[in-house]
Amino acid sequence: MLAPFQNRRHTGGMSSEQTPSEQLLRDAGLRVTAPRLAVLAALLASDAHPDAGVIAQAARARLGTLSTQSAYNVLHALVDAGLVRRIKPAGGPERYETRAGDNHHHLVCRICGAIADVDCATGETPCLTAAHDAGFAIDEAEVIYWGRCPRCLAAEAAGPAG
Ligand SMILES: [Zn+2]
Ligand SMILES: [Zn+2]
Repeated sequence: MLAPFQNRRHTGGMSSEQTPSEQLLRDAGLRVTAPRLAVLAALLASDAHPDAGVIAQAARARLGTLSTQSAYNVLHALVDAGLVRRIKPAGGPERYETRAGDNHHHLVCRICGAIADVDCATGETPCLTAAHDAGFAIDEAEVIYWGRCPRCLAAEAAGPAG
């Protein structure tokens, strides 16, 4: 299915018993299960683009028990459904986020691996025009800005710590 997913349609108002996670799963046509709810809730609570291990740990705290493999399976289902976006900066593990409906880019710190969002200038994929396409039908340009985050810059400025 290629239906573009409208990110975060649940903008308050309607008071129902459904949690944001439950609403998102239903909207995406996914079966609502406890592991999916826990993983999605853990992701919604973080803007740090956590990796699967961190997500599994947070979901486990909500559920009581959840294997890392189960967390992976849930994450893959959520990515396939367009609810979650997966990015994989070179040299690190896959990272996940719920901001999945747009074409934003990422700033990645070379030192500590911190990731921050950057809005896409044009908003649509592919936002860059290739110098030539070699006959390919291009549908995405993956942009990562590499550098040093404010914390690492501050630590550098403060000199080598003991
Ligand atoms: Zn850093
Ligand atoms: Zn992001």
